[in-house]
Amino acid sequence: MSDPFTIFLLLFLFFGTIIAATYYYKEKRRDYYNAIQGICPKCNKEILLEDKRSAGCCGPVQLSFHCEHCGYQNTFSSYDNGSCGC
Ligand SMILES: [Zn+2]
Repeated sequence: MSDPFTIFLLLFLFFGTIIAATYYYKEKRRDYYNAIQGICPKCNKEILLEDKRSAGCCGPVQLSFHCEHCGYQNTFSSYDNGSCGC
C-alpha cells in the first residue's frame, strides 16, 4: 500500500513538470515569433538571422538568431519550410 504523501509528491512533480514545460514552450514560441520578425525578444531592438540550416528538404529548419545589441542568442526549430511543397 502506498503512502499518501508519496502519491501527493508524485502528483505535485507530475503537474509541476507539465506547468514548467507549458510555460517554457510558450516563452520559446513568443521569442521565436519576435525573432522571425527581426525583433530581439530581450531588448526589442533589431536581431540578425545568423544561420539557417536545413536537415533535408522536408525536415525542420534550424534558425539561429543573434542580437548585436544585447548579445542574445537562440536557435529555433521550424517546420515551416515553404519552398518544398511536401
Ligand atoms: Zn537584444
